[in-house]
Amino acid sequence: MIQPGAGSLRRIAVIGRGTAGSLAVANVAGHDPDGNCELDHIFDSRIPVIGVGEGSWPSLVQDLHKLTRLSHQVIQQRLNGTRKYGIAYEGWGSLGRDFCHYFSPQQVSYAYHLSADCLADLLREGSRARHIDARVLDVTKTEDGARVEFEGRAAEHYDLVLDARGFPGPADLHPGRHIDVSFIPTNTAIIRRCPAVIGAGRSGPVLRPTYTRAVARPHGWVFVIPLTSHTSYGYIFNREVSDRADVERDFDTLLSQDGVTEFEPRAVIPFPNFVHRRVYDGAVARIGNAAGFFEPLEATAIMLAQLQVGMILQARFNRPAEHRERDAPVINRFLVSSMLCCGLFVGWHYSCGSRYDSEFWRYARDRAWPTYRHIGDPAAVDCDALRRFEDMVGLINREVVDREDWMRTRAVFPLTSFAQIAQGLGCYPGLDAD
Ligand SMILES: Cc1cc2nc3c(=O)[nH]c(=O)nc-3n(C[C@H](O)[C@H](O)[C@H](O)COP(=O)(O)OP(=O)(O)OC[C@H]3O[C@@H](n4cnc5c(N)ncnc54)[C@H](O)[C@@H]3O)c2cc1C
Repeated sequence: MIQPGAGSLRRIAVIGRGTAGSLAVANVAGHDPDGNCELDHIFDSRIPVIGVGEGSWPSLVQDLHKLTRLSHQVIQQRLNGTRKYGIAYEGWGSLGRDFCHYFSPQQVSYAYHLSADCLADLLREGSRARHIDARVLDVTKTEDGARVEFEGRAAEHYDLVLDARGFPGPADLHPGRHIDVSFIPTNTAIIRRCPAVIGAGRSGPVLRPTYTRAVARPHGWVFVIPLTSHTSYGYIFNREVSDRADVERDFDTLLSQDGVTEFEPRAVIPFPNFVHRRVYDGAVARIGNAAGFFEPLEATAIMLAQLQVGMILQARFNRPAEHRERDAPVINRFLVSSMLCCGLFVGWHYSCGSRYDSEFWRYARDRAWPTYRHIGDPAAVDCDALRRFEDMVGLINREVVDREDWMRTRAVFPLTSFAQIAQGLGCYPGLDAD
């Protein structure tokens, strides 16, 4: 394999061993099977990984097979996984009916529901990386690469750093560095682990199709993810709009309606919805939750981490080093735009409200979502995400969609996804709820 950029990659560092960092380690190994390049995997074992991220997209099924060289059956079992064929929406939109967002082609393409810890372990298995357990204080671009500074040990120099340190803390979020995606109305998750409703297959993986349930509730919505080891429930809400005690009470009500009598409280996770303006500068790449995040409604985080890692490694290994500085802003703009497209797609789900006329749903539909054009203004975000998103909505509103447009994925998600959501929510045709 001829890789014109490989000579300029003698030392690579991946920081973080959550899903994104582990995905990066496995991908570097895939690009450098002979181990010509030194790979340091840096993490601070005192800082836990986020540990949720149990829904995925079909691209992960192919990628995991390629990266691990294990069979699909073995991978699924190692992940305590089930086959996810889509997302079943309950109570969303203005039509008062439930609907499904299927992967395309419908009932054929599937992703995994998976245990996040098992995924990270699987990806790191067999990695030749040198492990450095230390806190990183700073990562800066230098003339010929990047410098990583540590607490209590000497700084190191690398040709490429993949920084997967997770969400920025609230004090680090800054409008100059981050696009605040506040048209998405949620910011907190309560996670509960409940008994499995799907048993592990006796002699092979569970073949029966499963769906992530996304259940609208008065204070937001709840995901229900069936794994063979447990069922994961997460209540997603806005802590400025709803009182946590009220949310916990409504969570109890849903579990009792579902016939769930016991659960283990797992975590309460505050999260930002944002995109980093500088995902890649030629030497430092932010990946995973460090690059951007949107609430988990469409399970976009792992899929976006795959996109970030894939594009950046492809560009660095396969393009001659002299193109690096010119490529960087182009790649950065494409990644920021793609991430923001995902954010717009997720926020759009709130545009028609739900079966609840509650404070949360009025806030989501009438105050948060209507800011999307202002936030996505190309002059403010320096990319064309808004146009890509509105193009897709424009397409589904056409009387006749041309055949060549059927498979278009201009805004990350395919046209079939846009059409299913628009029809399911009742905002079809037209963008507005009315
Ligand atoms: C409620 C919720 C539900 C979600 N559901 C889904 C889903 O269904 N599907 C999906 O794709 N995604 C989902 N996600 C997103 C999920 O978080 C990501 O997919 C995934 O976990 C990526 O995390 P990460 O690897 O970027 O960061 P993390 O898991 O936070 O890992 C950060 C790593 O960086 C290390 N680190 C941090 N700071 C330092 C430092 N200073 N020095 C050294 N090391 C450091 C830590 O030790 C850790 O190893 C969900 C997120 C939330 C909040």
